[in-house]
Amino acid sequence: MKYCVDEAACIGCGLCAELNPEVFKIKDDGIAEAYSEGEGEEAKDSCPTGAIKEDC
Ligand code: SF4
Repeated sequence: MKYCVDEAACIGCGLCAELNPEVFKIKDDGIAEAYSEGEGEEAKDSCPTGAIKEDC
């Protein structure tokens, strides 16, 4: 699956990178990025601000 992060909605909590580190990382600016395709459903469902979208 391919994911993307709504940077305006991301608060940089780091949860997505902890749950699915093969898909998400925190950039130098403190905002998350979906840097790779893969399984990121747990992160998407757990994001406190709903910033993670699918197929974008
Ligand atoms: S879980 Fe959501 S709010 Fe937290 S860093 Fe990831 S995208 Fe941003």
